[in-house]
Amino acid sequence: MKRLPCRDCHRPILWTTTEAGKRLAVDPEPNELGNAAVWRDGTGAVRSRRPSAELPLTGWERLHMPHVATCPNRVQQPTLPGALPDGVTSLDAHRRKKRP
Ligand SMILES: [Zn+2]
Repeated sequence: MKRLPCRDCHRPILWTTTEAGKRLAVDPEPNELGNAAVWRDGTGAVRSRRPSAELPLTGWERLHMPHVATCPNRVQQPTLPGALPDGVTSLDAHRRKKRP
């Protein structure tokens, strides 16, 4: 089992394999708000899937939050769009005003 930390924020993450055979990084601590049902199969591999109405969470599964939802270095993108450009604009205006 891989125990590599997140490449972006270097926090410990848990690598799981989804039913589609893809790798999904989740936060190592179970989280009721997560949408990944995580369990360990007979070989010790950590598996994950998305619980559904037909296949709800079972007794041996725990909900985990996918790490992409909590990674501080990835969540940055959608925060405060335009905040930096505004600051740059006002700085430019300030500089322009001081110019003789
Ligand atoms: Zn991260």
